[in-house]
Amino acid sequence: FDMFILAFVERLFRPTYKKDDIVLGKKLGEGSFGSVYRVSLAKKPSSKGGGDLVLKRATEYGAVEIWMNERVRRACANSCADFLYGFLENSSKKGAEYWLLWRFEGEATLADLMQSREFPYNVEALILGEVQDLPKGLDRENRIIQTIMGQLLFALDGLHSTGIVHRDIKPQNIIFSEGSRTFKIIDLGAAADLRVGINYIPKEFLLDPRYAAPEQYIMSTQTPSAPSAPVAAALSPVLWQLNLPDRFDIYSVGLIFLQMAFPGLRNDNSLIQFNRQLKRCDYDLVSWRQTVEPRAGPELRKGFELLDLDGGIGWELLTSMVRFKARRRISAKTALAHPYFDREGLQALSFIQ
Ligand code: ADP
Ligand code: MG
Repeated sequence: FDMFILAFVERLFRPTYKKDDIVLGKKLGEGSFGSVYRVSLAKKPSSKGGGDLVLKRATEYGAVEIWMNERVRRACANSCADFLYGFLENSSKKGAEYWLLWRFEGEATLADLMQSREFPYNVEALILGEVQDLPKGLDRENRIIQTIMGQLLFALDGLHSTGIVHRDIKPQNIIFSEGSRTFKIIDLGAAADLRVGINYIPKEFLLDPRYAAPEQYIMSTQTPSAPSAPVAAALSPVLWQLNLPDRFDIYSVGLIFLQMAFPGLRNDNSLIQFNRQLKRCDYDLVSWRQTVEPRAGPELRKGFELLDLDGGIGWELLTSMVRFKARRRISAKTALAHPYFDREGLQALSFIQ
């Protein structure tokens, strides 16, 4: 109950925004459920802070996305982009739209950064704020990828501990926050809050087939519809244990790990081809490796070499994330304690010492 009062008071005293405050800038994205713009404020009253913002004009699922962002703001603020305010805008020509505002976190998503030939050194430069004058090599690349994986799992653990499954984890939905020099999760439009039953019914058409785990449904078919909120709140810890819906995101983050290790799998076509190969191997990474490694080119070999460092601890972590059965996949929290992260810890800067 105290939490409820606190949340209410916090909401009451936070700055609010309306359509006339907002000056549209460059369009950043256009999805089937809305558009995203970089925006600035018409006037810059100090209470609302300066700096650029991001606006999403959403039709469907806008209400869900506002709910998720409010919850993240209170429960695990560092996991996601800094959410400011959301409201229903009735005056637009297209009919009612939800307007959502975030702080502009930075120019680049992980997808942008992974497309560069410099990856992962371009990320090292962002995290450190400077370019290091050190020889490039597999070990250094591995440390950067370790740091990125640590940040992604930390953010995901925050969401999962809050009871939220993202369901659309992919490099395009991970933004590099220039302020905190860390990666943050964005785009909660497909997320499910299992503790209160918001967006409980899985919408398969929201799932991105490139990164989706093989199970089509987040919850098993035995729980096909949303119970009422109080019933869901009482049941959901049980359902969570039974169905482990968080492991859907773990599979997706495992595919990101794979793409970071294997430069040849970073573009869409090769990822789609990989998904086909893995399916043919019954989603068993070990047998995938057995089929591709004997005739692997230099890029694939480099990936295996990187994952085989330190006694193959990276490969071990990868194979514990990308598995057919959700219940056999590692959780975000357990993954953070995996020996893969031992040597360097999770301090972003630890690898320069
Ligand atoms: P969509 O539903 O179109 O996928 P997203 O929430 O993923 O909407 O946002 C689209 C794009 O806008 C992102 O890929 C990213 O480039 C940019 N973006 C979104 N939120 C932010 C933010 N807080 N700061 C900077 N860029 C952002
Ligand atoms: Mg997106």
